[in-house]
Amino acid sequence: MKILKTQTLRGPNYWSIRRSKLIVLRLDLEDLAERPSDTIPGFYEGLVQALPSLEEHYCSPGCRGGFLQRVREGTMMGHILEHVALELQSLAGMSTGFGRTRETASAGIYQVIFEYIHEEAGRYAARAALRLCNSIVETGTYPADELQKDLEDLQEIAAGASQGPSTEALIREAEARDIPWVVLETRDLLQFGYGKYQQRAQAALTSHSNVLGVELACDKESTKQILENAGVPVPHGTVIYYLNQLEDAIDRLGGYPIVIKPLNGNHGRGITLDIQSWSEAETAYDRAREISSGVIVEHYYQGKDYRILVVNHKVVAVAERIPAHVVGDGKHTIRELVEQENCDVRRGEGHDNLLTQIQIDETSEAMLRRQCRNLDSILDPNDVCYLRATANLSTGGIAIDRTEEIHPETVWMAERVARIIGLDIAGIDVIATDISKPLPEVDGAIVEVNAAPGLRMHLAPSEGVPRNVAAPILSMLFPPGTPVRVPIVAVTGTNGKTTTTRLTAHILRQVYESVGYTTTDGIYIGDHLVEKGDTTGPQSAQMILQDPTVDIAVLETARGGILRSGLAFQHCDVGVVLNVAADHLGLGDIDTIDQMAKLKAVVAEAVQPNGYAILNADDPRVAAMADHVSSKVAYFSMNPDNPLVRSHLQQGGIAAVYAEGYLSILQQDWIHRIEQAKQIPLTMGGKAPFMIANALAASLAAYVQGVSLEQIRTALQSFRASAQQTPGRMNLFNMGRYHALVDYAHNPAGYAAVGGFVKNWAGPTLGVVGGPGDRRDQDLLELGSLAASFFNEIIVKEDDDKRGRPSGEAADRVVEGIRQWEAKHQSQCSYSVCLDETQAIESALDNAPENGLIVIFPESVSRAIALISDRGPLPDAFDPP
Ligand code: ATP
Ligand code: ATP
Ligand code: MG
Ligand code: MG
Repeated sequence: MKILKTQTLRGPNYWSIRRSKLIVLRLDLEDLAERPSDTIPGFYEGLVQALPSLEEHYCSPGCRGGFLQRVREGTMMGHILEHVALELQSLAGMSTGFGRTRETASAGIYQVIFEYIHEEAGRYAARAALRLCNSIVETGTYPADELQKDLEDLQEIAAGASQGPSTEALIREAEARDIPWVVLETRDLLQFGYGKYQQRAQAALTSHSNVLGVELACDKESTKQILENAGVPVPHGTVIYYLNQLEDAIDRLGGYPIVIKPLNGNHGRGITLDIQSWSEAETAYDRAREISSGVIVEHYYQGKDYRILVVNHKVVAVAERIPAHVVGDGKHTIRELVEQENCDVRRGEGHDNLLTQIQIDETSEAMLRRQCRNLDSILDPNDVCYLRATANLSTGGIAIDRTEEIHPETVWMAERVARIIGLDIAGIDVIATDISKPLPEVDGAIVEVNAAPGLRMHLAPSEGVPRNVAAPILSMLFPPGTPVRVPIVAVTGTNGKTTTTRLTAHILRQVYESVGYTTTDGIYIGDHLVEKGDTTGPQSAQMILQDPTVDIAVLETARGGILRSGLAFQHCDVGVVLNVAADHLGLGDIDTIDQMAKLKAVVAEAVQPNGYAILNADDPRVAAMADHVSSKVAYFSMNPDNPLVRSHLQQGGIAAVYAEGYLSILQQDWIHRIEQAKQIPLTMGGKAPFMIANALAASLAAYVQGVSLEQIRTALQSFRASAQQTPGRMNLFNMGRYHALVDYAHNPAGYAAVGGFVKNWAGPTLGVVGGPGDRRDQDLLELGSLAASFFNEIIVKEDDDKRGRPSGEAADRVVEGIRQWEAKHQSQCSYSVCLDETQAIESALDNAPENGLIVIFPESVSRAIALISDRGPLPDAFDPP
């Protein structure tokens, strides 16, 4: 068997609304297509031997051992691969359990769906599961060392994909609060929320961090000065730039013990503590000079090293930090003890893990020399030996939670200090013998204020209670009651998405200042086209959702994007489903119209409980979506007597209908007339029924989003879909004596929709029709029959690009369709054949009858529009008979 295609879903999708993170494999079972697991000798035994923990998978029997029972009794290999991929991830520490396996319309080809935590690991698990299954089929076993290697690789991928403890904590907290987040590739910025409500963070710097405060905190000397002036205890000291100033500086402090550190340093680099003599001071000066030209000389404070974390001007955690050290056992050397200590799984490189490895380097050896020890010394039992003087976690230190112990006076002081420096998140370093006493009482001092302090010592202290310090950070970014996301209106359907999206955006602009919307022709923010192109997938949606100027999003959501990667958002506020018709069938294993309906239903099902699914009551497949939504429902219908609409209203629901020439909103017993269709340019004088349907859907979407009837009316009157904006979409030209319409309808439902308009035309009608050669015969026949049903006269043409058919064949099929219609309805249809599209159009325009309507379904929209423009259409597009 082999994997034909791997897709990574990242949002609500065809398989699940809630589980967004899924891998979808298209799997060719090849010779295993006819061989369920019970017919493969030794397979069951081999699988159990390789992965005994599969015993825990319940599967359909619903009990422990259920899945293995299915394997024993016989199940297809796709199903097994699904369970193996899940189990491999779980064994590598990424607990996953959701999966599905389905046959496709192609024999032996299956779709295998399973959950992932990290997408790259998910894709790896697919390949590893394939190797494992194939190996057991062929040899009866999967070597243990191969499995070991797979799991190690998976762990490595998982480690590489996680963001570091501080960021991970923020992400987890955001998820718990249902706040959407995304890591922007640029600078790994974390973005929370959508549109104008978004906030950003990067570790412990946030959109609230003030650059003046951050810069001040980075300047240790100024920080000290400003705190000293405010009466906060800080170490006495001076800054010097030359060695010859050192002696003087020490004298002014009143002698030893002193500390020497670089003026601009961090992570404890270049610092020497507890200096007791001139010779130590000289060496310390040189070390500090290597880091910075300015050198701080200050009084050394005896005591423990505490970190106070202040978020949004409140102390949220306190930790005692203890420098990297080992404890003797009377047997091992210091070097061996360090190695043992570094085996702790919590210790990693840099800031990626909860703790950092202890480095053996010049600093630690110097530290040992001062204690008259070296790396080969053996420590007595329980002797503590420090390898660093400074307690930074990044140099191997550990932390103990002391949040409960801090003295209230110090809480007050720390909160005041955060405000004095101007930091939303501050890490305040305090030296004191006992944090439960006021600082002056124990001769304590604040040695530094850190911007962007590390959070890991509070999140996962080596001892004491872990503190969820991500919670106050997110509460600061989004105080209770503040919005997190801008409203999202998503629009899907087979036909009319772009029109409805544009119209909805236009209506919403009556209320919202900056409407962001995506369509088949581009991404727009307000009046501005931001990017041109077919932008109906999740990436385009993300562009709108990430934009800080957007205050509501209207997203055309096409089939392709939902299928390829799922929706761009977890929930929307309004989900519009216009219709489901036969188009794009046979692509992406969506072979039936019911499967297509299930795919489009994703938009309705993703609506949040207080939002609305706007459903077409006249389309049974769309109406049926109401059964699976978790939100409220509002229907639109061209028929005010639609029984579904009636019963919905009786139950207190909302609907929009077309009745007596008016678009109206119905609620309980009330009929709110919005506007007469005739007054709405989009409906072409009320003659284009499908445009009325689109306008009903858009009006309803806006109405449930709080737009008033007056505002909707004004917007409907002013909306124009111009040929420049949407070429090929019902572009009507007033030629004076007659009208010409260009439409790029591309499926039978689209032709039928245009037919609805043609039938309402008072004068004679002529269609220039033809279908692309790559459509099925039955589609071309249907096109012919449909055309015959609404045109008085037809010219059958052909595309320049024959798409694999001999010249004339596609046209023959269309003609056959016309004849079938004639036979069925016992009536005559006047038609002719003119294969060349340009000639056909010219001839239709030349012979256009008085008050007539020429409808062109062109291969090339721009060429058709150019031919019409050459004949000088009147600026006022619409003046129907
Ligand atoms: P980081 O960037 O990790 O905060 P840093 O390089 O900025 O470190 P400081 O915070 O100034 O350096 O000092 C590091 C540690 O050295 C302090 O947390 C404290 O333990 C100790 N220390 C610094 N100054 C003094 C002092 N005057 N008296 C006693 N200990 C001190
Ligand atoms: P695409 O899939 O190409 O993006 P779309 O769904 O965005 O299409 P529109 O661009 O709004 O649809 O309209 C395309 C054509 O579909 C119109 O010109 C018209 O022929 C037809 N159409 C529009 N609305 C409807 C409707 N409600 N029902 C049936 N056909 C429609
Ligand atoms: Mg510090
Ligand atoms: Mg579109």
